[in-house]
Amino acid sequence: MIGFRASIIYFKEDPYFLEVQEDSIYYYQDGMLIVDKESGLVVQCGQYNELVEEYPDIDIDEQFKGQLIMPGFIDCHTHYPQTEMICTFSTDLFSWLNTYTFPTEDQFKDLSYARKISQFYLNQLLKNGTTTALVMATIHPESVQALFEEATKLNMRIITGKTLMDRNAPEFLCDTPESAYSDSLNLIEKYHNKGRCLYSITPRFSPTSTREQLQAAGKLKLRYPDVYMHTHLSESIEQVEFAQSLYPENQSDIQIFEQSNLVDKKSVFAHCVMCPKSESDQLSRLQCGVAFCPTSNFCYGAGIFPYHEFVQKNVNFGIGSDVGGTTDFSLLKTLQDAYKVVMISQKDTKNRKPMSSFEGFYRATLGGCKALHLEDKLGKFEPGYEADFVVLDWFTNDIQKLRHETIEKRSGKAQRHLNSCKSDSQSDKFMLAQRLFGIMMMGDQHSIKATYISGKQCYLRKN
Ligand SMILES: [Zn+2]
Repeated sequence: MIGFRASIIYFKEDPYFLEVQEDSIYYYQDGMLIVDKESGLVVQCGQYNELVEEYPDIDIDEQFKGQLIMPGFIDCHTHYPQTEMICTFSTDLFSWLNTYTFPTEDQFKDLSYARKISQFYLNQLLKNGTTTALVMATIHPESVQALFEEATKLNMRIITGKTLMDRNAPEFLCDTPESAYSDSLNLIEKYHNKGRCLYSITPRFSPTSTREQLQAAGKLKLRYPDVYMHTHLSESIEQVEFAQSLYPENQSDIQIFEQSNLVDKKSVFAHCVMCPKSESDQLSRLQCGVAFCPTSNFCYGAGIFPYHEFVQKNVNFGIGSDVGGTTDFSLLKTLQDAYKVVMISQKDTKNRKPMSSFEGFYRATLGGCKALHLEDKLGKFEPGYEADFVVLDWFTNDIQKLRHETIEKRSGKAQRHLNSCKSDSQSDKFMLAQRLFGIMMMGDQHSIKATYISGKQCYLRKN
């Protein structure tokens, strides 16, 4: 066992609905996270001075004292084959796919190439504090094999699956309903629930699969109800119109998947910026997962994610980087765009409700776990939870440092005022919101000091 001494935060619930959002978290200014190195699970988390008495013989790692530990970030939608073509210029989604994406994805028929990019990609996740991701691969089984095998070397929880695509794509990237079924079945048998690997049946989006292929995928989903289904949904007006021209009998994008038995609580849909009300109602009723990908939505001018509507309907959503239709792997930078989307989406400027730092970090951690139905394993520091965590710096450059020091100075005055009406721990949490907002809105890859997977250090920033 080992204890990590630092400031520690994790969420117990969604802060959005609480009058005092600070009540949604556990926060220990001088805390300790105790991990069992053998099993990679959390033993306990709490105040340092209490746990040190309870565990007098424990080894204590003090290198992160003064820094902040929180559960690792969860990226709910990303494409690892697009790593090398991140941030490529295009006027629209379909020309981007044809010009850059499809030729790049063709390289993943080669297992050794897929391994090379898998290693690079997983390294980028770790450098950015992302410890679990739901990842699109390519149509090639080799692409899935490479990512699962490289993730297994790190003991990292990764969800991925072979892309299904049998039309509206170049011939060299098309499979068939039969091969989609048999290749996916082989991969499920080989990798699903092996170590920390989880499988997702992955039609790219409705325009690139025939009805026959979606039905084959639906048969597989009925056979393995525990595997995920991952796709893009209501991503842009062009995509929705294209889908409707191919499936004129369906009223919405989700109906296309539903009619092939592909929609249940293990379905995770990326984007959802053009969802009609009936679709968001359905996402809520069926407890599906959704990935909010604000940076990608901005890059393609795709649409505005209905943040408040989805929260109020209890739709399970987390944050997605959507690498490479984006600019960065960092979920901190993605949260910065999420904040701006939430602001511009509210026309009633007098009654705007911004996305607080508590809401942002909740979505990047426990909220993402809920979207992926992993909240009984990940996203909290409770006994038996998987010890994936990230160590964050409060500031990493001059301006962040000056801002932080100003808050520290003011917090003394504010605490004296607050202490007259709140407990010490409540006033600590009040000031914490200011500090967290700085990391959320100004942070990036450099904010990540270290990343741990199953209690083991997998990344440490050198300077
Ligand atoms: Zn995507």
